[in-house]
Amino acid sequence: MPIVTQIFLKVNNSSKVESIRIRPNHTMKEVKSVLCAAAEVSDKGTASCDAVLKLYSAKNALVPIGPNIPKNTVEEPYNLQIKMVPKPSVETPVETKKLMETIKATTSVLGEVPSLKKEVEEIEKKIKSVPLGVASSSQASAAPAVAQNTTKKPNSDPTLHLAMLRASNYDKETVDKIMATPRPVFSSTVTEHLKHPTFNIWNYTEIELIGLMENMFEELDLVKTFSIDKDIIRNFLARVSVTYNANPFHNFKHCFCVTQMMYGILNVTGTISKLTPLEKLALICGTIGHDLDHPGMNNAYQINANTDLTIIYNDISPLENHHAAVLFTLFRDPTLNILGTLPEVQYRECRKQIINCILATDMAKHGEILAKFKTYSTDFNFEDQAQRQLLLQMIIKCSDISNEVRPKHVSEPWVDNLLEEFFCQSDKEKKEGLPTAPFMDREKVTKPSAQVGFIGFVMIPLFELVSKVLPNMDEPIIQPIKKAHEYYKSMLEVKPPA
Ligand SMILES: [Zn+2]
Repeated sequence: MPIVTQIFLKVNNSSKVESIRIRPNHTMKEVKSVLCAAAEVSDKGTASCDAVLKLYSAKNALVPIGPNIPKNTVEEPYNLQIKMVPKPSVETPVETKKLMETIKATTSVLGEVPSLKKEVEEIEKKIKSVPLGVASSSQASAAPAVAQNTTKKPNSDPTLHLAMLRASNYDKETVDKIMATPRPVFSSTVTEHLKHPTFNIWNYTEIELIGLMENMFEELDLVKTFSIDKDIIRNFLARVSVTYNANPFHNFKHCFCVTQMMYGILNVTGTISKLTPLEKLALICGTIGHDLDHPGMNNAYQINANTDLTIIYNDISPLENHHAAVLFTLFRDPTLNILGTLPEVQYRECRKQIINCILATDMAKHGEILAKFKTYSTDFNFEDQAQRQLLLQMIIKCSDISNEVRPKHVSEPWVDNLLEEFFCQSDKEKKEGLPTAPFMDREKVTKPSAQVGFIGFVMIPLFELVSKVLPNMDEPIIQPIKKAHEYYKSMLEVKPPA
């Protein structure tokens, strides 16, 4: 009589612990059937969905499902994750059906011409071999979110929306290289420093920055809370890193800086303990995705040059809408979808918050968002959903323009990078006969003149307003900004603008 192994597990993180018995002579199918019975789902799935099982240890490591599942204890049960994944469509599309009928009719007419009949039969065979379930983009957009996740589209499809096209054409070689590199290990000194605005990004390679972002997911307790597969997080971050363009400023390192500053603000102000896990997930996704595929030219250029983005988004925050659309296109791929374990209601809420955060980074909305937050700031109510949502927007806004919170040796290269990007745009605008902005014109702006105005009129009022709601902002965040303001003012006195 083979020995029976008793296994304890929770289903989809529920509080109830189930007990099942597995024999070493069970087949894989039988083991899956027992697991499905514990989860009260049919091992055949439903008419339209397959049941996909994943088993995790108490420490969140993936446990291989099979007759030799390691024995565990009732105190440390496994977590069984069951996901219903739509079955690929087996229905013949209407167009194909019509074509087949036409061919059938033609074949009967051509009955007496053997060579032609053979040719038509060949065409029929080819049509039948086209993989089904490859939806056209119009079908995909009408389908529910889960179904979209399984839709694979060819990269050259001319009907693809620009965001989908950008997200699907990527540097696979670099992503593969990142995935093949072992996860970097960081000392506690580094991971503690990561929680502070003084963190020096320039000491790390892009692969290390990805590792540091993975650390933030862990430290924010998101991996455990939402049972996110660590390989999916890594794959997602690798893909994000190649979906940012190599602009002087709006590149993957800027994405890292904004994400790290958000993480720093949450830590130094203690807001980390005031936000819900879902809000933290939305914030980190929002900061990571907030400038995806930025073309290096701002919204004013997009509108004046009448680019595709302004046509798609009717001039309304074209870039920010694009960044969010690229992010959610990445999430359609199950191997990148870090929101894949969220139940539908939570997914909807998280998506709403992420979009709100990304759209809030459009500086055209700056005055409006600040005015709204000001009305709440004197008596901020953490119980009010609308106020919490606005706070998330303020946190991402602060993080996005936070370079001068950092020490001078970390922040100053960013000023040069931003001016370089601005000057490139301004040069292009002049060449194309488009309107130019004085703050982007290499003949009208100097580093100190640009900085004094921006820090004094945009940064300080924004951060001081947030400090009315979040504690402990002064010493680690506002003082460094004021110091930078003084530094550029002193440069201005020595070297007045041309
Ligand atoms: Zn940004």
